[in-house]
Amino acid sequence: MPANHLNAFEMAQHQFDAIAAKLNIDSAVREVLRFPEREFRFQIPVRMDNGKIRVFFGFRVQHNDARGPSKGGIRFAANETLDTVRALAMWMTWKTAVADIPLGGGKGGVVVDPSQLSVGEKERLCRGWIDQVWHDIGPRVDVPAPDVGTTPQMMAWMMDEYSKLAGHYSPSAITGKPLGVGGSLGRTEATGFGVVDTIREAMKHLRIKPDKSTAAIQGFGNVAQYAAIAFKKTLGGKVLCVSCYDRNDQKSYTFSRRDGIDPEFLQTITDQYGTIDKEKAKDAGYTIEDADAWLTKDADVLIPAAIEGQINGDNASRISPQVKIVAEGANGPTTPEADAILQQRNIFNIPDFLCNAGGVICSYFEGVQNDMNYYWDHEAVLRRLDQKITKAFHGVLDVAVKRDMYMRDASYIIAIDRVVEAMELRGWI
Ligand code: NAD
Repeated sequence: MPANHLNAFEMAQHQFDAIAAKLNIDSAVREVLRFPEREFRFQIPVRMDNGKIRVFFGFRVQHNDARGPSKGGIRFAANETLDTVRALAMWMTWKTAVADIPLGGGKGGVVVDPSQLSVGEKERLCRGWIDQVWHDIGPRVDVPAPDVGTTPQMMAWMMDEYSKLAGHYSPSAITGKPLGVGGSLGRTEATGFGVVDTIREAMKHLRIKPDKSTAAIQGFGNVAQYAAIAFKKTLGGKVLCVSCYDRNDQKSYTFSRRDGIDPEFLQTITDQYGTIDKEKAKDAGYTIEDADAWLTKDADVLIPAAIEGQINGDNASRISPQVKIVAEGANGPTTPEADAILQQRNIFNIPDFLCNAGGVICSYFEGVQNDMNYYWDHEAVLRRLDQKITKAFHGVLDVAVKRDMYMRDASYIIAIDRVVEAMELRGWI
């Protein structure tokens, strides 16, 4: 099958297979790592506000826990599939390994458009998700967190439900919680800031002046908002555009402004799902273009930070010759076919599981703080995050330079080596 038509899980396996062949990994070990260790698929009956029961479908996939408890977010999305969750769980294994934090990889989901639920319905759905899997997750087993369509408040309900069922307060069972119930300072901005920490290091390597640089961003949710803020504030660069999906129109749009966008202003006209108010943006002088416009901008850096498969065989050739770096804020934004085009064009890739590892690094810090019952200040969290992700970036860059390799391949080599080493040390293989 052409790589462009693979679903997310097939794509994750395709990437793994290619590296496993290069690494000459034993076939039994490959078989273990090509599939999740465990997966749970369950129904969640929820009483809706109209008094009727609606049945939702939920998933939890634990890809690998050789290096520590499985770790990964829960997505609430109308088009969620088990294969998407499997792919994301596998990428989490590589992400925690490349970031060198003592955790494995997992992911969860529910097939639902959360914007169609009332607050009460969302709470009952979150509690229902925990009721189905609480026996199979926990601080030493598998620790969920928020992802697309889920929020810190939802994590608070989930942590509360888990604590009730476990019979004791268990803040480290779930991360990404609000501050008032054991959340970590810095978690909201961690992924976007981490993305920009890796861009800063890539710019040093490529000798690009950050304060003269421009970026085009896809998405304007949690990752994109804070990547835009950090790109502008800490690097001093200009963000040419961001984009978002508009549920009402069922279309995506790109929002740009000649002097660069103002992410903090745009946040004030963006809803909790990352949809920017078009009318208010127009009033503020923004140009609204079609969905793919972000991809064709004459920018130094492209930051896909929305959903998977957005840079693909159909559109990769439209990327401007000015682009020097693709920093993958989203998980799986580049299909293998597009990846080949980027490599051919010598565009520096910061692969998803390195680039967006800031979120899971901060989640790990949250669990550490919960277990110590001692909380760090904002500056300490962001400093430790920067140190950790910068070290991870340079570990990958060293391998890429020494072995004359694409950054994605170098990241895989480091991650797979670490996971295989843990499996060997534990006597699994
Ligand atoms: P989010 O739900 O907060 O935001 C998603 C954004 O993407 C929204 O602005 C939405 O409108 C936009 N979008 C969706 N489809 C689009 C399309 N076709 N075209 C343009 N825009 C589109 O999600 P998020 O938390 O920012 O996550 C974004 C990506 O980053 C996902 O792939 C997620 O798995 C990954 N990620 C998130 C975190 C985190 O901490 N939030 C950590 C690591 C990776």
